[in-house]
Amino acid sequence: AALESAREGRVITRFGQHADIEDPDTGKIHRCNIRRTVHSLVTGDRVVWRPGKEALDGFAGVVEAVHERDSVLTRPDYYDGVKPVAANIDQVVIVAAILPELSTNIIDRYLIACEALDIAPLIVINKVDLLDEEGHEMVDDLLDIYRDIGYPLVMVSADSGEGMSALMTHLDQHVSVFVGQSGVGKSSLVNTLLPDVHAHTHQVSENSGLGQHTTTAARLYHFDQGGDLIDSPGVREFGLWHLEPEQIAHGFVEFRDYLGGCKFRDCKHGDDPGCLLRQAVEDGHISVERFDSYHRIIESMKEAKDNRQFSR
Ligand code: GDP
Repeated sequence: AALESAREGRVITRFGQHADIEDPDTGKIHRCNIRRTVHSLVTGDRVVWRPGKEALDGFAGVVEAVHERDSVLTRPDYYDGVKPVAANIDQVVIVAAILPELSTNIIDRYLIACEALDIAPLIVINKVDLLDEEGHEMVDDLLDIYRDIGYPLVMVSADSGEGMSALMTHLDQHVSVFVGQSGVGKSSLVNTLLPDVHAHTHQVSENSGLGQHTTTAARLYHFDQGGDLIDSPGVREFGLWHLEPEQIAHGFVEFRDYLGGCKFRDCKHGDDPGCLLRQAVEDGHISVERFDSYHRIIESMKEAKDNRQFSR
């Protein structure tokens, strides 16, 4: 019999030498083998797959090739340096919260990671139900730092539902990941946005007998209101990984115009004379908070490096 023709698809999840491929035309998911010549395949990848014929052991088809990725999220790997985790993400949702503490320094760290990857960030401040009117106003004013730079930002509450429709509008038409520190409410937000995910994940684990893998591997979900989410415990930890020193200053986008113009080429942007960056802060073009945050991150990196050297 003639071979079925090759089709386009998208990786919903991958486990070992198998992957669940969604057919964009039908929306159906097909469990496929992965051809040995395909060396790297992760959730979110766009692929060419062929139904039937060559597939083994009841699998529905074979993944034959991977299209070039627009973006890739990686994690550090002991053997390979970095390992891809998910592909073709075009929005990183940075979740921060009023409680336990609203840390703009942490937000800045995530923003640096987004800038290094060239993926657009969306800042989400959760648990605003905990604020009274005055507190709401104070936090809102503080967050103007980010609005002034041009970053989109929404204040939400997974508990009260406030701001959730604005959040959904930002998720529409995008492939997003949710990142943020433990306890900020990522699970609560995702559960609100994808109420039937739990049932779904469970079902996959049971059918495949590969539960362990399917629950930890990244998976792509569709929001009812539009847009996709790629999620896994590993994906949520993105951004807290190692940053290169050169990425830091560039990760503060509003600094870029002033970098390289200082009097001294190795200017540390501290007390150095002729520092354009410090001048920009004094002139009100750069916020003091972001300037301080920059120095805190540089300092913490130095400490981390010293500790590593010490422990060797
Ligand atoms: P994750 O670690 O980022 O996934 O955070 P969780 O979703 O597990 O939430 C951590 C804690 O914050 C839980 O006790 C939640 O009930 C609580 N929480 C989450 N969202 C909200 C919210 O909008 N308002 C309030 N007051 N608490 C919230």
